[in-house]
Formats: sequence, C-alpha cells, structure tokens
Amino acid sequence: MQLPGTLLMFIRSLKIFRSLAATVRHGDSSGSAFACMLLLVVLTTAAGGQASALPPLHLTQVTDQVFVAVGATGPPNYENAGHNNNLSIIIASTGVVVVNGGDNYQLAARLHQAIKLLTPLPVVWVINENGQGHAFLGNSYWRDQGVKIIAHGLAVDEIRKHGTQSLQQMIVRNRDKSIGTYVAEPDIAFEERYGLEVGTTRIELISFGEAHSPGDISVWLADQEVLIAGDIAFHQRLLAIFPDTNVAAWIESFDRMAALEPKIVIPGHGTPTDIATLRKYTQGYLQFLTRQIQAILDTDGGLAAAYAIDQSAYAHLDTFDELAAKNAGRLFQTMEMEAF
Ligand SMILES: [Zn+2]
Repeated sequence: MQLPGTLLMFIRSLKIFRSLAATVRHGDSSGSAFACMLLLVVLTTAAGGQASALPPLHLTQVTDQVFVAVGATGPPNYENAGHNNNLSIIIASTGVVVVNGGDNYQLAARLHQAIKLLTPLPVVWVINENGQGHAFLGNSYWRDQGVKIIAHGLAVDEIRKHGTQSLQQMIVRNRDKSIGTYVAEPDIAFEERYGLEVGTTRIELISFGEAHSPGDISVWLADQEVLIAGDIAFHQRLLAIFPDTNVAAWIESFDRMAALEPKIVIPGHGTPTDIATLRKYTQGYLQFLTRQIQAILDTDGGLAAAYAIDQSAYAHLDTFDELAAKNAGRLFQTMEMEAF
C-alpha cells in the first residue's frame, strides 16, 4: 500500500526536525537560527504539501557500465538544487554502485529515477567522495532505501563534526527541494584502499592522500580503465582552496592518482576528460599559485601582493570570480606561516 503524499511529507519533516533538534542539543546553533529553520520547514510542508516533482537527472554515458549526472560548474543554488558536483553510477553485473549521495534527499531520489530508466538492477552501494554536503547529504534518501554507504574515515569524521551545519545551510538554500534530508553517516569507513566486489565487477576505492577536502577518495575500475576521481581533480571551474587544504600534499596526491594512467577520468567537477586536462587545471594551477606566492615571500611581499597575482590564465573557468583571490590569500597565509 502506498502512503499518502502528505503523510510521507509529514514523516520527512519530522526527520528534518530531528536533525535540527540534535543541532540544538549539541549547542552548535543559535536559538533564532533554529526557530527560522523550523518555520521554514513548517511553511514548506504546509504550503507545498508535496515533494518537488522535478524530473529525473540527466545521465551521460561514459562507458557501457559507467554513467554520470554532470553537475553545474557554478556555486550551488536553488535553481540547480545543489547539483553542482558529479554524481556517477557504475552498473555492475548484479547491482548499481552510486558515487556520491548528492546534495539532498530529493536530488538522490531524482538520480534513482534516472537509474531505474537505465536498468532494473538494484542500487547496492553508495560511495561518498568526501565529507562535503553535496557528497553526503543525499545519503538520507539511500539510507531510507536500505543501501549501504561507504566513505573514508576522515570524511566520516567531517560528517560527524560539520554534518548538521551542512544540513542547515542546504535547507536555507534549497527550501522545499531539501525536504526529507537528514544527516546519515556512512555505514563503513576505510583508510587507504577498499575493494568492492559486485557480482563479477571489481571496484576499488582509493585514497591518494590529502587533496581538496578531508577524506577525498577516488573510485577505480581497472578493467575499464575509468577513474571516478572525485575532488582531487577539477576542470571547467576553478578549484577551491579551503583553510584546511594542504596544497603541497594535493600536488603530490595528484601524481599518485595520475600514475594509474586512466583512459577516462570523471572529475569531481566538470565533464569526463583525460589526465592531461585535469593536470593543467588542478595540479598546474596549484603549482602556479605556489610559485607566485613563493616569489612574493622571497621578496618580503605581503597579502595584498598575493591578492593581486595575475591569474588571468584561468579567468575563463567558472567560479573564477568567487574563488581566485580567495585561493591566493589562503595559500599565502599558509605558506607565510610555514616560512616562520
Ligand atoms: Zn566537490
């Protein structure tokens, strides 16, 4: 028997309520922010009454077994529903493996609709490429379907520490498109490598070391020579250097990844491509910025000089305006500290 839509909506709202109540218990949210969010949930539930009936996500074929819902290369917003990173699927011999929970419950449901149009096989695993909101918040949908979820240990730590905060930000941004989402931690955490056997398909989860965000991993299909790289690899949009991003380590991790010599790479952001392109816009950019900042430090220059670095070779990339100066400033501050 199907549950009536309004009842389902009510149950989902309760789940959001539970997540928000947990936030308050842990004391990491102000009372007024909590009240605003509660009001938002009540309003979206009462006014809409139904989950947004958005269409299935578009899946682009990469190989006979691999497809990707390519995310927008701009910042997350209500229009793209938080789909600004790549959500990939591997159709293994006995089941489907999904790479990334996606930004929210609704988005994961739309990915599932797209999968059902391709294959009758059940989804058996969900992999989170790291602990960022758009990698794990949709876990809530997959948890409700009974699918096992796996991530790197550092990503799980990140979800425990900042998951509720990611949820709150996502709810404010996605409003009715956030309905149903709650923080669902992965079932399994691993450190360096983890092999998944799905029927006759062998899938390897690999940590190449520090990169963009804690717990970044890649997914390797050796027989197809396809790598779902995750956030170790960007193109078409400028990458972000966070305060905790270890740029020097990322440059080395990139080499370990490239050593696999994959034929096709699905990056964390941007369409499927090759290593040379990703090297140019990821490792190449990080090396360029490091060299420029080293030169400033060598001549006793300051933060203002870092902000003024000519990054125009990358100006055609999306999110350049939002991130270029910020990246230079963050890397300058890290390298300046290290020089002491
Ligand atoms: Zn990302």
